[in-house]
Amino acid sequence: MSRKTNIAIDGPAGAGKSTVAKMVAEQLTYLYIDTGAMYRALTYIALKHSIDPKNGKKLRELLDRVSIVLKPTTSGTSVFVNEDEVTEEIRSSEVTNTVSIVAGHEEVRKEMVKQQQTLAENGGTVMDGRDIGTFVLPKAEVKVFLTASVEERAKRRHEENIQKGYPSDYEKLKEEIARRDELDSNRKFAPLQKAADAVVIDSTHMTIPEVVDNILHLVEERF
Ligand code: C5P
Repeated sequence: MSRKTNIAIDGPAGAGKSTVAKMVAEQLTYLYIDTGAMYRALTYIALKHSIDPKNGKKLRELLDRVSIVLKPTTSGTSVFVNEDEVTEEIRSSEVTNTVSIVAGHEEVRKEMVKQQQTLAENGGTVMDGRDIGTFVLPKAEVKVFLTASVEERAKRRHEENIQKGYPSDYEKLKEEIARRDELDSNRKFAPLQKAADAVVIDSTHMTIPEVVDNILHLVEERF
């Protein structure tokens, strides 16, 4: 490949985007950018300051007062709000179940998108999210829409929780994932949507290495 491109990976919650995006980035020595972590970090700090997740204006003001920084590490991404590390905290169920409300505000998204576009301006990124191929990087050379059935996605999350020793309820996870998808897909501004030129990969019956190989193959094909 002569020039570093941008790779956009979108899809519903729990489809394995971050795992796959991280591995693709590693293979290509690209930078992995987890845009969901940015919305999660804002949600975490809003909850901490008791800001109503429905108040877009207040959230936008908060965004001006904090800097959200993603630092690549060997195991993934560390997330900081100003100087404080919030990598673990942003994965709490409280944040997970509130983030789609925070991310629904147009004024919040416009600022996040600006920051994400700056991160990708020199190419060489694998960015995962919901609106990357449609809105953040509409000119990305490779676009993937990664999906899987809601049952499979809930099952994977459930098994992951159990492995980590966390309490877990499959039915509840399924409901939460479906609710988040619905909010993300039905918001007015830059909803979760497959870009017209994205390649759909349904990972329901695929292993992680198979999905990664598929994407690397797409990258090779394009160049
Ligand atoms: O990717 P992850 O599941 O961590 O994203 C958390 C939430 O952040 C999503 O459910 C969605 O509400 C929001 N998000 C978004 N746009 C993105 C990435 C994430 O709205 N590009």
